[in-house]
Amino acid sequence: MHGMERIALFPGSFDPFTKGHMAIVDQGLRIFDRIIVGVGENGDKRGLLTMENRVRLISDIYHGNDAVDVVTYGMLTGEFCQKVGASFLLRGMRNTVDYEYERSMAVVNNQLFPEITTVLLFTPPEYVAVSSSIIRELVAFGHDPAELMPEHIEIKNYL
Ligand code: ADP
Repeated sequence: MHGMERIALFPGSFDPFTKGHMAIVDQGLRIFDRIIVGVGENGDKRGLLTMENRVRLISDIYHGNDAVDVVTYGMLTGEFCQKVGASFLLRGMRNTVDYEYERSMAVVNNQLFPEITTVLLFTPPEYVAVSSSIIRELVAFGHDPAELMPEHIEIKNYL
């Protein structure tokens, strides 16, 4: 029953999706009926993974879980929320650096899209040091970042 469902968009670059991201989705599923993981297209940034492979990696994690969808989008995050019927913006927070960034984004989003509520969840303590950028750095220097990736996901299958 669309409209009664609590739908959250979890937006990000997800280059690549990490254990930390997964912890946010898993916690989010206790609050929301459905989570749409939105991989944002960022024209000027050539990442480690192509957009297609970022989506494939996340889809591989959540295949069989009807409550999680994965899509790419290339518009303002708030506009995309409206398009997919998401009333909530889900974000993760590791530390005060994330806090400051998320705070500014939430202020702007609230001005432009007052009907959308930002929900920030703390990452579990074991993942506070996990980031996509550390994984990219490990891969760049030939190391396997398996410890930071969701279980059963091998980065080499997505490069
Ligand atoms: P962005 O480029 O939009 O920051 P990211 O893919 O880096 O996209 O992150 C998406 C969201 O996940 C952000 O809210 C970010 O703070 C959060 N996040 C990133 N790493 C972690 C982690 N280890 N634990 C919890 N949240 C995280």
